[in-house]
Amino acid sequence: MSLIMVRNVHKHYTLDKADAPALIDVSLEVSPGERVCLMGPSGSGKSTLLNLIGCIDSPTSGAVVIDGEDTKGMGDARLSEFRNRRMGFIFQSFNLIPVLSVFENVEYPLLLQKMPAQKRRARVQELLARVGLSDMSRRSPENLSGGQRQRVAIARALVGKPLLVIADEPTASLDHATGSGVMELMMEMNRSEGSTLVFSTHDASVSRYAGRIVTMIDGRITEDRRAA
Ligand code: ADP
Ligand code: MG
Repeated sequence: MSLIMVRNVHKHYTLDKADAPALIDVSLEVSPGERVCLMGPSGSGKSTLLNLIGCIDSPTSGAVVIDGEDTKGMGDARLSEFRNRRMGFIFQSFNLIPVLSVFENVEYPLLLQKMPAQKRRARVQELLARVGLSDMSRRSPENLSGGQRQRVAIARALVGKPLLVIADEPTASLDHATGSGVMELMMEMNRSEGSTLVFSTHDASVSRYAGRIVTMIDGRITEDRRAA
């Protein structure tokens, strides 16, 4: 069974009537454990599609079915439970919680999962070490650079070993070495936990982490192929 099934989806933003539609008749199926990369120019609809798959936005028409469940029929409580327990997000805007420390931001998904304190601490420390931020765990995200914030967001997205990792240009604000480290971390989650990865990028050196490359132009999928 597909983990993700997007079927004949259209998305229009209603802010400006002159705007072109953001997604036009997009269909995409992703099997459990796949690594899918969305590529395409700015404005082609990558973020819009990732937001629909992540259930943080809904289509104008068409269906988004995740793990066999049509997201249209899921209430808000069920959707947020689903997001909290099954998905890890890496957004372009980091969405860190400014009143919490770095450690607490990363710990947050595990609190929602009700993981015991000792196990939680070990897991958070492990992830902070993996993204090279062990020394910054007590800081506020406001006192970090853009790249450091991105790494906190990545640690937070992966700490709960999500079934599905959705990453919107995860390496965009990182230098090459840090970006590679982040992709390796996602790959390891894919190998060891079987996590499904769906990510977007502009960068060909990032797309090589994918098993499949989906190209978008002007709101449509124009190519869907196995990576070399
Ligand atoms: P990409 O991530 O590939 O750069 P987006 O999904 O962000 O593309 O955008 C696709 C199209 O939808 C663009 O034309 C963009 O201007 C438009 N768009 C995206 N988000 C909004 C929004 N919140 N309101 C209005 N238009 C939007
Ligand atoms: Mg985008």
